[in-house]
Amino acid sequence: MNLILFGAPGAGKGTQAQFITKSKSVPSISTGDIFRDEVNSQSELGKKISSIMSRGALVPDNIVLKVVEERLKKDDCKNGFLLDGFPRTLPQAKGLDDILNRLGKKIDKVVSLEVAEEKIIERLSSRRICKKCGNKHNLVTLPPKKEGVCDICGGELFQREDDMPKTIKNRLSVYYVETQPLIEYYKQKNILLSIDGNKSVPEISRDIEAAL
Ligand code: AMP
Repeated sequence: MNLILFGAPGAGKGTQAQFITKSKSVPSISTGDIFRDEVNSQSELGKKISSIMSRGALVPDNIVLKVVEERLKKDDCKNGFLLDGFPRTLPQAKGLDDILNRLGKKIDKVVSLEVAEEKIIERLSSRRICKKCGNKHNLVTLPPKKEGVCDICGGELFQREDDMPKTIKNRLSVYYVETQPLIEYYKQKNILLSIDGNKSVPEISRDIEAAL
């Protein structure tokens, strides 16, 4: 099954991706995670995109498409994949169609998590990530047992630079202008599954499972 997990920043894509990859046995491909790794390792690409990411803007389409194409060619995508945080612009969606055509594949379903704006802002500003294992906590919905400490590995929790209030606003306006129009693109293709992302984490995963 080839899937796209679609939604605004903070809609809960990362959390739901973990459930879907387990239940469908497909790898989750998060362009955000790939780019953060590049920035952390200070690669040539990482140096190029670091300031773009910290201000909440989008990495140029040609760079994103090249990274995604390389990733989709890997062996573990043979029996399916879940794209998280990609595509984010119309040229990316069309570029993805071209890539998949070349690989003899297609997208089966687009799971769209739909969440009210005030909830998104609350979720993003209360998101905390473990420095050591990358596990995500949320001060409101999934608070760590001990303040500032990861439940899984005991690592230190931190707030992503682009989850700070000023950048959240910018990321959301980028989402509304560049990304939201893709809902219509996939609706036209008849592969869009709209999911109410305002519910609790287990309710949302149950709804996704039922819809798929
Ligand atoms: P995310 O973790 O998905 O919120 O992504 C974090 C940041 O990585 C975004 O704010 C962008 O700067 C960059 N990024 C991730 N995915 C894409 C994409 N598909 N297109 C452009 N930029 C992206």
